[in-house]
Amino acid sequence: MRCCLFILLFSILFACNSNFYTVYASLETEPVKSQDDAADDPAIFIHPTYPNKSAIIGTDKQKGLVVYDVNGKIVHEYDFGRINNVDIRQNVEWGGKEITVVGGSNRTDNSLVFYSLNEATLELTPLFTQKVASNVDEVYGFCLYYPDELIFDASDSYFYAFVVGKDGQVEMHRLSLSAKSNRLIFEIVYHFDVGEQCEGLVADDKYEVLYVGEEEVGIWRYDLKEATGKNRRKVQLISENKALKADIEGLTIYYGKAGKGYLIASSQGNHSYAIFERTGENKYLGSFKIEASDTIENIFDTDGIDVTHLPFGEEFPEGVFIAQDGKNGKEPQNFKVVDWGAIQKMIDEEKSNK
Ligand code: CA
Ligand code: CA
Ligand code: CA
Ligand code: CA
Repeated sequence: MRCCLFILLFSILFACNSNFYTVYASLETEPVKSQDDAADDPAIFIHPTYPNKSAIIGTDKQKGLVVYDVNGKIVHEYDFGRINNVDIRQNVEWGGKEITVVGGSNRTDNSLVFYSLNEATLELTPLFTQKVASNVDEVYGFCLYYPDELIFDASDSYFYAFVVGKDGQVEMHRLSLSAKSNRLIFEIVYHFDVGEQCEGLVADDKYEVLYVGEEEVGIWRYDLKEATGKNRRKVQLISENKALKADIEGLTIYYGKAGKGYLIASSQGNHSYAIFERTGENKYLGSFKIEASDTIENIFDTDGIDVTHLPFGEEFPEGVFIAQDGKNGKEPQNFKVVDWGAIQKMIDEEKSNK
């Protein structure tokens, strides 16, 4: 009897633990300069020819943006304002050349901000002198969108950005540069209401889809081919999956081979990350936590995340997953970097167990 009880207890314990895989950070950035809740969201830049000249752009939501090199050292800091979330797109056609666009949601003046990243110096320069204003209650979540299929007159340069306010209102902005008149045009293409407070936003450039994290509810998928805001379905609700715990925070997409890949969500309430298929019905694959190693402590309370399948420096030929750490010992908050190879191994293991 005692033996059975032991086995039962052991099984329960194992079941609880087996909900989460464990990975470790291989690298961490220097802390941001602001105290308390400051670092929020990372974006990864991959240098087109030299992986070692890649970078991380992180928000310090009390003052601006921080650019880190592949070793996590600060290269540049900018007092652009209270930028909450940041996103990046490379190879954007803009006025006859290709640029890297870094954009964000600036709570200082409720605007969207856009910079061009110099790939040699990693410096950020404002792309527009005019303010790109938002009408949402308070700009909060943000992502860029640069669809693979150009759906408008390709002689004009353009890209899109989504912003969500704390009120759950999403705006889709179109930023364009007319080839004929060389005139900038900012327009809000459409807007819709998700529901309660949202933050995490990510757009899939290939499938023309927007994912939205409704913090206490779950993850939604919006079809952008029919940009009405009505064409949505759930990816997963928090109430349906014991591995998810509010808030749902950052969302990111791993662009895998042959159009496959993963949608990853920060489940802030239990310090974990949930992985879903990028395609089909966005099937849930499993969750992981970033635990303490001998040299780098564990991650707690993550806001923003980002991921890349491309080599990030010589150390990470399979790419990296980057997460904000809400509690970085006695230091201000920072970002921690995990070798994608470790996460991929976990996903492959999980698949072979099924
Ligand atoms: Ca936070
Ligand atoms: Ca939040
Ligand atoms: Ca920590
Ligand atoms: Ca956040």
